[in-house]
Amino acid sequence: MIERSDNTMPQGSPSPADVIRLEPMGRFKQTQNGNVRLQGTNHTAQINHSICQSSPLIHNTCDTGGVAGTESPAGATKKSLYENNGVAACSHNRALCIATVVFALLFTIAVIIAFTGPQSDCTCAGEKPPNFVDEHWNVTKAFIPRATNGQIFPWNNIRLPTFVRPTRYNITIHPNLTTLEVKGQVSIEFHVEKDTHFIVLHSKNLSITDKMVQDRKGHHMRITKMLEYTGAQQLYIEMKEKFRKKHNYTLMIRFTSKLGREFEGFYISSYINRDGEKRYLATTHFEPTYARAAFPCFDEPNFKAKFKMSIFRDRFHIALFNMPVINTEDVGFYMGTGLLRDDFQESVEMSTYLVAFIICDYTHLSRQTQRGVSVSVYTPSPYISQASFALNTTTHILEYFEDFFGVSYPLPKQDLAAIPDFATGAMENWGLITYRETAILYDPIETSTTAHQYVAIVIAHELAHQWFGNLVTMKWWNDLWLNEGFASYLEYLGVDNLFPEWKMMEQFILDKTQPALALDALSSSHPISVAVHDPAEIEAIFDTISYSKGAAILYMLSKFLQQETLQNGLNDYLNTYKYSNADTKDLWNVFSRNTNQSLEVKVIMDTWTQQMGFPLITITREENEVIVTQERFLLTVESMNSSIRSFPKSKYDYKWYVPLSYFTSNDTQTVYNVWMNMTDVRFELDPNITWIKANVNQSGFYRVMYDEAMWRSLVNVLRNNHTVFNPADRANLIDDAFTLCRAGLLNASIPLELSLYLSKERDYVPWATAIEHFQSWSRRLSESLAYKLFLKYMRKLLTPVAKYVGWGNQGSHLDKLMRTEILSTAILCELNETVTQAKQEFQKWMTSNESINPDLKEVVYSAGIKYGGMTEWQHCWNLYNSTTIPSERKLLLKALGVASDPWLLQRYLLETLDRNMVKPQDVKIVLAVVAANPEGRLLAWRHLKAYWPTMHSLFGNATFMMGSLISAVTAHLSTPYDYYEVSTYFNGMNVGSAARALEQSLETIKLNINWVSQNEADIYTWLRNYVK
Ligand SMILES: [Zn+2]
Repeated sequence: MIERSDNTMPQGSPSPADVIRLEPMGRFKQTQNGNVRLQGTNHTAQINHSICQSSPLIHNTCDTGGVAGTESPAGATKKSLYENNGVAACSHNRALCIATVVFALLFTIAVIIAFTGPQSDCTCAGEKPPNFVDEHWNVTKAFIPRATNGQIFPWNNIRLPTFVRPTRYNITIHPNLTTLEVKGQVSIEFHVEKDTHFIVLHSKNLSITDKMVQDRKGHHMRITKMLEYTGAQQLYIEMKEKFRKKHNYTLMIRFTSKLGREFEGFYISSYINRDGEKRYLATTHFEPTYARAAFPCFDEPNFKAKFKMSIFRDRFHIALFNMPVINTEDVGFYMGTGLLRDDFQESVEMSTYLVAFIICDYTHLSRQTQRGVSVSVYTPSPYISQASFALNTTTHILEYFEDFFGVSYPLPKQDLAAIPDFATGAMENWGLITYRETAILYDPIETSTTAHQYVAIVIAHELAHQWFGNLVTMKWWNDLWLNEGFASYLEYLGVDNLFPEWKMMEQFILDKTQPALALDALSSSHPISVAVHDPAEIEAIFDTISYSKGAAILYMLSKFLQQETLQNGLNDYLNTYKYSNADTKDLWNVFSRNTNQSLEVKVIMDTWTQQMGFPLITITREENEVIVTQERFLLTVESMNSSIRSFPKSKYDYKWYVPLSYFTSNDTQTVYNVWMNMTDVRFELDPNITWIKANVNQSGFYRVMYDEAMWRSLVNVLRNNHTVFNPADRANLIDDAFTLCRAGLLNASIPLELSLYLSKERDYVPWATAIEHFQSWSRRLSESLAYKLFLKYMRKLLTPVAKYVGWGNQGSHLDKLMRTEILSTAILCELNETVTQAKQEFQKWMTSNESINPDLKEVVYSAGIKYGGMTEWQHCWNLYNSTTIPSERKLLLKALGVASDPWLLQRYLLETLDRNMVKPQDVKIVLAVVAANPEGRLLAWRHLKAYWPTMHSLFGNATFMMGSLISAVTAHLSTPYDYYEVSTYFNGMNVGSAARALEQSLETIKLNINWVSQNEADIYTWLRNYVK
């Protein structure tokens, strides 16, 4: 049964009349409640260093501000000569005369716009990093935007004017979950900074039925023109009388729209209840630029305002908003039986992208924090028993963050809601966080340790955003990393506090630092601070660089600032900029202040955020002196070519302030720190020291290359007694050795010799690091002579540790994570004992429904599918379609892609085109697992090509998903033919925000080809000696 929403509400008047009818929806209250930047700063920094020598730091830098510009639109000075809908009263002759004047004026404007260059390159455009060459943006300057009615749209800037600031929104919304129609109205109180005839705001796919402007006293002002420009998703409203500077006004707009099916704006979602019936809900996702698709607004993060909300709903629904309900009215008298209106408490000042509302029939669990904040988890009723973990974790981590930051959570409540159709993992809407089901639900019997930990991390991530992102917001999206880097770092601190035995900071390098180093070594990477303008560019920077590199450099910062200074700095930053906006420079200045200027944090950190990439630290020894040099690390095929290494130009010339840490063979407990101030360093070494290990715990964001003798010593130490190094340092050595080999800087024999020690390794993080590299070697080698030998070598290394982890449920949290990782890998490389046992477990489970330890499900399902046939596959597919455990569904989705039968794989790929079978949000999982399967690699690529347009329409505007599909499908391709295929297919195609992902994928394929040709012979020879 499909739930219904009442349809009896009278239609809003579509007439051009100036007076808005306020009843029954109307709750318009009649009350009222650009610049030139050029700064130069000279820094003379003295940087502290401990123990060893370091070159003195004297460095000049300056910030270049935005370009000055006019905020007048091209047509701002002319009188309004014609109104919408022919309301202007004029005689025929006068009209002709006017038309002539208008034409002349339009022509003049066009000429001015076309030839005067960047006249509207206003100060509101995002501040460009000094090294950013912005050709694309300049080219678009000559473009003349046209409104939907064909007129010139007078505001030629993707950014809104800065002289109008909204202060309060009053939104009323009535969605119909059956017809998908939405009726809404918004009144926006705003303040103008200078006299102006016009305002510009955002609107996307909304049909505006009424509009009205009032001054402070409630007097109605005459709108002479309203234009909509879909290209920039903007509305332009021109007035007869000027808005006076320093005055407040209210704009009121009525509109209609449709609930979307894409996962953005205000959209429809559904779930199946216990009786097998489909239930609908309406929910929102606004970040980064979709609030404008739900109501007209000033949709930029720096336009903070207070929000009041009213929602019409059916009696059997509930409505949720950022703030709690304060009043519920029965509006049946006006609107039809059963209809209620919830009025919500006014919000604090916040950005539009953080607004959220949901209309659903969920149930919930609640509890209070010690300070009395009400925490609730809302889920569809079949899932509520899986909500307790999220509730307890949220309560604890909310309290921990309040304590850690020294700033209280400012809202009275924190709701978490599980959304069945969701594009990302979760969204930090202030006070109403939305989650994909697998990111919030935990079933102690069914959910694996990996999935359990993931839920805790996502919860901590979104809670961290309540301060970093919500309370203090980036001024513009170019500083997205201030939101995402912080949340990605703090999520580990939050979970570490709640579960110290999970050793989150050891896992941090595995999950954040290593993937970020891998991506940032491509020449198609980008600086953390990057100029972005339009929605597609904004979407594109929600990537590994903003999240994981951002987190990794904050981790590095925390190490050289020390915990106390870090905490003081964060507290200072939050208090200074709360309910407001900040940029990267503001952050660094706060930290400098908190070190009493003893460290020029901004000078140091600019080299990490303003230029892409990171340094390769090369350590060589000459007698008793150690020489440490730095240069940019690149994986490029032409890595030895210095002109490629210095492209694109960086004002820091790809030199960094590197906090180099190390310990030596003499004393592994004493850590030495040396600053490399964009320079190389030398220091003395005791003659009896045989090796040094740099980048302690991989806490720095750089790679280390030792001279060959030192590599040999380090390998010997690992093989003789690997516990000389802690697990993070062992993982670091593995990661560096394999990556340096990938870059052509180290012969394959070194990582291979090093890997021999793994037969004694019993820790999770080093093993997970090694497996990541082994798997990519195995995929790249899959068409070469060495392939089968390499699988044999992997089996040899895995045999002892597979025995160690066993099939029980014993051991620590990390042991459990390792069990899943080791045994799953053993299945893929066909380790006999593991395969046999897993196949038996699968049969017992399939035939007599015998339960499986949740950490072994991935192993058992993979074995059943990989070594089984149609029956096994179908059994899992059926279960995928019927289970009510989201984490189970995700596991099955991954396992179904390891089938060996191409027919099954092809069938599986085709299922992804039906959104009722595989949710669009999960398509990437399927394509990635099929592409990683040697049997499916070419099928996945063929599928991507064949159904590219279909998939595009499946995701709608969420084109960032397309980028991840390209990466997932092409990452393992490694022949020149593959490169030709991919580059030819996409040649000339507009892939939108997937452009950078495509460029990175092509670069990766090229690297794969080169690596195979350079290394396959050496690897084959080495393996022949070791694998008998
Ligand atoms: Zn986030």
